Amino acid sequence: HAHLRSDRSIHYFDPSIAKNSREKLHFAASLKRAVKRHEFEMHFQPMTNYPDMRVIGLEALIRWPQEDGTLISPTDFIPICEESGLILPLGKWVLNQVAKASRELKDAGFDNLPISINISPTELRSNDLVANLRAVREAYSLGNNAIHIELTESSLIEHRDKAVAVMKQLRSDGFAVALDDFGTGFSSLSYLRDLPIDMLKIDQAFIRNVDWDVRSATICDAIIALGKSLKIRVIAEGIERSSQYRWLYQHGCDGAQGFYLGKPERLSAFLARRTPEKSRAP
Ligand code: C2E
Ligand code: MG
Ligand code: MG
Ligand code: MG
Repeated sequence: HAHLRSDRSIHYFDPSIAKNSREKLHFAASLKRAVKRHEFEMHFQPMTNYPDMRVIGLEALIRWPQEDGTLISPTDFIPICEESGLILPLGKWVLNQVAKASRELKDAGFDNLPISINISPTELRSNDLVANLRAVREAYSLGNNAIHIELTESSLIEHRDKAVAVMKQLRSDGFAVALDDFGTGFSSLSYLRDLPIDMLKIDQAFIRNVDWDVRSATICDAIIALGKSLKIRVIAEGIERSSQYRWLYQHGCDGAQGFYLGKPERLSAFLARRTPEKSRAP
């Protein structure tokens, strides 16, 4: 891994460009060992509401720490976990970590700050997602609305009926459901009409230039209008500057997430800086 950085920033190692198959195998073997030993950490990024930037939830994002102190991004290892089946044990570990974090939040006085978990297609299709969620909620004495679920459109393309059944079950069990990376999955509008969801997250690709590019702006406007008419909350992700933040407010977006509002960080870091009364970002 030639270009590791010495700070704790995320290292975008891309296994698909690993120089040779030996390197790829090495990567896969270390990953397998790390899953077995639970050598990961969870970071949490705030989501805020308009107009007052109050923190309304946290998104849990997994990282794989390396011996040299760098962190490998989930985009570089979640797909490999998906292909190899490691995602099920890893996902179970994530559920437990998130429930534990939710308990810590409650104990620190954050009574109603849900944590969102990214669920991959294999986990959604597995038969024990709902049971696992109920089990951790029980184990940490959490109520309804402590844990939210994020799914991508792509996880709903195959086995759609099964996915929709699980989503209904999740919602009736008190786990709100968000559709992540919205706009990138080519789902048809009729399809969206019938989906049991509480929230849409506009993909960062449309937010990146929303403050100056007419095409991006048009798409964001359309997604916000869609959310309003279907009564689904719309959150924008990947907001990095005030002009994007302001644009989305002026155009009726319900919530915001991105480095401008807060970077993903350890829960201890979040708790060290924020109190339930002072949970405004930044
Ligand atoms: P996602 O769920 O769409 O998460 C948002 C990603 O955008 C995160 O990348 C986050 O760090 C990044 N981000 C947030 N604000 C900004 C910003 O202002 N600018 C830019 N450029 N990026 C921003 P991350 O942490 O690398 O995660 C990538 C993806 O990996 C996630 O996309 C999610 O699909 C997946 N993932 C993360 N954690 C988990 C997990 O625990 N389980 C599963 N199955 N997938 C996960
Ligand atoms: Mg997400
Ligand atoms: Mg996303
Ligand atoms: Mg994404």
